Amino acid sequence: MRGFQVQRVPLTSPGTLERVPRPVRAVVVGGGLAGCAAATVLAERGAEVTVLERNAYLGGRAGAWTERFPGGEPFEMERGFHAFFRQYYNLRDLLRRIDPGLHHLTPLLDYPLLGPHGARESFTGLPRRPPFNVLALIRRTPRLRLADLLRVNGAAALEMAAYDPVTTWRDLDDVNARDYLDSLRFPPDARQMLFNVFAHSFFNPEEGMSAADMLMMFHFYFMGNPEGLVFDVLDEPFSLALWEPLRRHLTRLGATFRLGTPAERVERCGDGWRVGLAGSDEALAADVVVLATEVPALKALVDRSPQLDDPAWRRQVARLDVTLPFAVWRVFLDRPVRHDRHPFVGTTGLGHVDNISVYERFEGESRRWAMRTGGSVVEVHAYAVDERTTEVELRADFLRQLHDLYPETVEAKPLHELFLWRQDCASFAPGTYRDRTTVETPFPGLALAGDFVKLPFPSALMERATASGFLAAGHLLARWNVRPPEVWSVPGRGLLGPVRHLLPALGVLWR
Ligand SMILES: Cc1cc2nc3c(=O)[nH]c(=O)nc-3n(C[C@H](O)[C@H](O)[C@H](O)COP(=O)(O)OP(=O)(O)OC[C@H]3O[C@@H](n4cnc5c(N)ncnc54)[C@H](O)[C@@H]3O)c2cc1C
Repeated sequence: MRGFQVQRVPLTSPGTLERVPRPVRAVVVGGGLAGCAAATVLAERGAEVTVLERNAYLGGRAGAWTERFPGGEPFEMERGFHAFFRQYYNLRDLLRRIDPGLHHLTPLLDYPLLGPHGARESFTGLPRRPPFNVLALIRRTPRLRLADLLRVNGAAALEMAAYDPVTTWRDLDDVNARDYLDSLRFPPDARQMLFNVFAHSFFNPEEGMSAADMLMMFHFYFMGNPEGLVFDVLDEPFSLALWEPLRRHLTRLGATFRLGTPAERVERCGDGWRVGLAGSDEALAADVVVLATEVPALKALVDRSPQLDDPAWRRQVARLDVTLPFAVWRVFLDRPVRHDRHPFVGTTGLGHVDNISVYERFEGESRRWAMRTGGSVVEVHAYAVDERTTEVELRADFLRQLHDLYPETVEAKPLHELFLWRQDCASFAPGTYRDRTTVETPFPGLALAGDFVKLPFPSALMERATASGFLAAGHLLARWNVRPPEVWSVPGRGLLGPVRHLLPALGVLWR
């Protein structure tokens, strides 16, 4: 069932043919969600697709690969815990190709937020529909009393319910999220528990993120989300539940995967393209190309491809950037954490830590390991980590916070651990929106996809990656009048969006 306010996104070139009328060769550079979503639609519409992926495994930032315990036993490692929200309509459509009943998605009905001195917020039991969900959260939290609400900057607070795809960006893209949140005048602990986690959830520091991006995310996840604040997780490693089945599905549709094969450059060739492979003279001829890499790789590819010669577009690509690094620590403990620990908790104000998950509480492989060994598989994440922080400091902080929050881990011995420290998530810095790249490029037959690409509707992270892949494929197939995929989104505007210009007056009434 679609939520009551969901919108079908109208595409500009609604073709009518089910399949391409002649042989079409498509090369997709990047085998993450964006690339595989594009590859899926292209292959389903009859194109002969080759996916080039730099890594030896599919999935990119949502990928999984095989590691080994010291004794040699294999296990699947990922880039970390991922939440599949219910309004990820396009991602769910992609998953239904391989799991029609979405049986691999298992709900996490509560994901508490833990703060300093035992502070705690919960998102369970809230009404599903906006704005009742947010109103109920405000009524329920002990951190906001009526007197606090009367002191709040009403006009600024109402912005959260008034997202508008044009004017929010016009008015607030140059403001940073920290200044915007400070301007709300929430009491400090309400500010910390309700808002501090938000920018970090998109890997960006508050002071380095556009307030308009934050308001779009707020609309997408809360105020404009008709599906409720709960999310699902995959019940097996991403490789088993997602990537292997998707690879089999695409292979059956005739797609070819070249793993461990980075693209080096893109050149024009008649009406089409040639994609040169790194470290070899080989180049693949293509009628259409989707560049679906993360930001640094796209910039490098474009640098090495002088024939992508539109100066304004090259400037746009050059201005894309990554945000601060993130870290993921997975530790296999020799004893279980307490039985009432949640599968996932968010944290705020607890050093560098942003969340802690207990993998055997939701993921099959970890559950089997925990049953065999009597241990626990715990993962700790930190996002937007200050670049001056060293790995040693970060690890020490992870351990300290884990011991404080889950004291039963103090005595536990780590049987094995993995620490990832990466910097490849996109920056959404203030003042960058107008110049961000879109799916369409100035070059016929070449499209972009990825979670950093500007879309014509609210979206984020895995969902934006998938939606951009669908849009890229639809855009390229329009040349042959082929039917684009259906693309869905939450409502494009907030409840107060149509009267956003009245917010200053409403703010005065509030006070
Ligand atoms: C720790 C962590 C936690 C996260 N949690 C969540 C979450 O809870 N919910 C959520 O929605 N999202 C989450 N995300 C974000 C999510 O993982 C990303 O938004 C999404 O996976 C991005 O997909 P993508 O296809 O745009 O990019 P990527 O996954 O980065 O894919 C790009 C691919 O291109 C390949 N590539 C690069 N250069 C080349 C080249 N030259 N030739 C060939 N291939 C190349 C890369 O190897 C990669 O596989 C999380 C991310 C991280 C890191």
